Amino acid sequence: MTDIMSPAQRHRCMSHIRSRNTKPEIKVRQWLWNHGYRYRLCVKSVPGKPDIVMRKYRTAIFVNGCFWHGHDIEWKMENGKWKIDNSICCKIPQTNREFWVNKIRRNQERDRQNCQTLLENGWQVIVVWECQLKANRLEQTMRQVEQRLLDNLIAILKPKRLRYEFPEEENLPIAAEPPADYKASASAHHSDNEK
Ligand SMILES: [Zn+2]
Repeated sequence: MTDIMSPAQRHRCMSHIRSRNTKPEIKVRQWLWNHGYRYRLCVKSVPGKPDIVMRKYRTAIFVNGCFWHGHDIEWKMENGKWKIDNSICCKIPQTNREFWVNKIRRNQERDRQNCQTLLENGWQVIVVWECQLKANRLEQTMRQVEQRLLDNLIAILKPKRLRYEFPEEENLPIAAEPPADYKASASAHHSDNEK
């Protein structure tokens, strides 16, 4: 792949793509909004400033650009340096390649740390990739996001202690009761009715 941009040009271009209100993020927001979900954007108090914060579901949603966050790439160490092969989603320019590789590695490391912090604080994390929001995949992707949200909500609403302690069967109190006298109880019931 030939790179027609200078590194500086490319950097400006990529920085621009990265800015807030990127198209993929808007698609996710629109879908959620149209389906009755409400959210907050880039809440600074939540670790990693997730793109979308849904407090009710205690869920943070990150909408990741495939290039910036290195979708589907595999890392390998060669001569003390991290290398990656291009993936379908993440095509790294040959020019200034090391810069981009390092950048993506740092981004991924930060993503991991943010995710970890959120999980430790009782948040759930949903990552939506840019490529999953193409027209033919959007609906399916968002239905999966919705399912995750509902699962998260159920987990929150569920009482914490749902484990009932059952005594061992032989210790059940009913075993100690005398056999029921069905005739007697039936006649008692009968006489009750006559009153
Ligand atoms: Zn992708």
